[in-house]
Amino acid sequence: MHSKLVVLGGGPGGYAAAFLAADEGLEVTLVEAESRLGGTCLLRGCIPSKALLHVARVVSEVRELRRDWGIEFGAAQIDLGMLRARKEKVIANLSGGLKQLAKRRNVRVIQARGVFENSTTLRLDGDHESIPAERQLTFEQCVIATGSLPAMPANFQIGSPRVMDSTGALALEDIPGSLLVVGGGYIGLEMGSVYASLGTKVSVVELTDTLLPGADRDLVAPLQRHLKHLFEERIFLGTKVGSLGERNGVIEVAFEGPNKFGTERYDRVLVAVGRRPNSRDLGLEHTQVQLDSRGFIRCDKQQRTTDPHLLAIGDVAGEPMLAHKASHEAKVAVETVQGHASSFDKAAIPAVVFTDPEIAWAGLTQDQAARDGRTVEVAVYPWLASGRAHAIGRTEGFTKWLIDPTTHRVLGCGIVGAGAGELIAEAVLAIEMGCEIQDITESVHPHPTLSETLMNAGELYLGHAVEFYKPKKA
Ligand code: FAD
Ligand code: NAD
Repeated sequence: MHSKLVVLGGGPGGYAAAFLAADEGLEVTLVEAESRLGGTCLLRGCIPSKALLHVARVVSEVRELRRDWGIEFGAAQIDLGMLRARKEKVIANLSGGLKQLAKRRNVRVIQARGVFENSTTLRLDGDHESIPAERQLTFEQCVIATGSLPAMPANFQIGSPRVMDSTGALALEDIPGSLLVVGGGYIGLEMGSVYASLGTKVSVVELTDTLLPGADRDLVAPLQRHLKHLFEERIFLGTKVGSLGERNGVIEVAFEGPNKFGTERYDRVLVAVGRRPNSRDLGLEHTQVQLDSRGFIRCDKQQRTTDPHLLAIGDVAGEPMLAHKASHEAKVAVETVQGHASSFDKAAIPAVVFTDPEIAWAGLTQDQAARDGRTVEVAVYPWLASGRAHAIGRTEGFTKWLIDPTTHRVLGCGIVGAGAGELIAEAVLAIEMGCEIQDITESVHPHPTLSETLMNAGELYLGHAVEFYKPKKA
């Protein structure tokens, strides 16, 4: 079997590449090991976690109604089977949609594990009927989109189902009495919030001295205050877990300090200490592809690897390991295959942590500016001055712009607060378009919305914010 273009992996990088290439009239074969399209993001990542976080948010809003507004709905009754079924239905609907879209576009989908025999041949492992009898697929070009896998340090691999990775946590087998989350990053805080809102006593242990080490400290502070309350003070920063062991149906965890010592017992442990690129066992040693020291496939801005027949996109092609970065790289890869002078050169790839409050940032961060010795002006608008934030009882957030003091161009944006993930899109557009801060302040924003805070922060910078007094800029 031969195909002009093969895409290996059917996640948000791979299916986007296959569909876009088919739309351009290319003959495409998509090879995916699993029975459903969607990859990590749809089957065990972004979508199921956001479905559960939706439930967590509603539960916490109901609690706020009771505490702040005098409205009582009674204690939550959780039907775990129904909760799981609803999450599975969301996944099934979306992956069924992808199957239909592949069919309508004439993308040939083979359910097999692809392994490179050389730079233009994949061996197809598996027993699905879509695999051709010769078990080989040759191609002119192949886009590698095999994604990433949870990292599980060797000392945590004790063979107990009570020690879970993100996939295990999303399976929601039960609502454990207690859960230790190892790793205070995206997954740890999102899934920790889900379990805490369902009634589990959650603790978090993080190796560095801060939650979400990749985000600016000021953005993390309001979230950390909220999580301290949600996790009842059980956040152990700068702390190492020495060993795990199972005894009598609980996990014993030895903490090695410096901020917590001794042994504690937990019903379950979620290990969320990062992900590793899925580049092993692909037969890449039979090609000219080179990996970096962390196992990411080396590629240029056109998504070309060091092998002229192979391109790479998504998590396997480098950080940030985010679905929207994977699907944008898919667009670039397809344009490269067609011979266009396209390149992945983005000023702003948004990052969103879907906790409560949410944290979102795009473009330059204050940490990055400090590391680069770059002078920036920072305009911060506290949501305490926002009518909408007061109306919904969420005044803990703020919106900040990083601005070039000479050109007044917006270089970066950070938002913490309810719905920050939706609000950041305006900042992405502004940064990519090279807007000056006046472009934001001269655009009329709807009132009363939290989107106004992007305009208000700019007005504060220019010295004409209505709800704030700050001396005018010369
Ligand atoms: P993947 O989605 O990992 O897809 C790779 C596919 O390749 C898989 O389907 C796999 O079966 C297939 N494959 C691998 N090897 C082979 C082979 N040899 N042969 C055939 N097929 C193969 N990102 C966000 O942007 N927003 C979020 O909110 C978000 N939430 C997340 C929550 C969790 C719990 C997790 C784990 C991740 C989350 N992510 C989120 C990250 C996001 O899921 C990834 O960045 C994204 O899925 C990467 O897409 P990809 O196409 O590169 O790879
Ligand atoms: P992460 O890199 O976000 O966080 C891992 C955390 O674990 C870090 O803070 C790190 O310092 C800490 N850590 C590492 N080793 C440790 C140890 N031995 N003990 C204690 N702490 C340790 O990784 P993640 O949370 O596993 O998520 C993986 C990736 O998936 C993310 O980087 C992101 O790219 C993607 N993701 C994105 C979203 C989103 O966009 N909302 C959600 C989930 C996952």
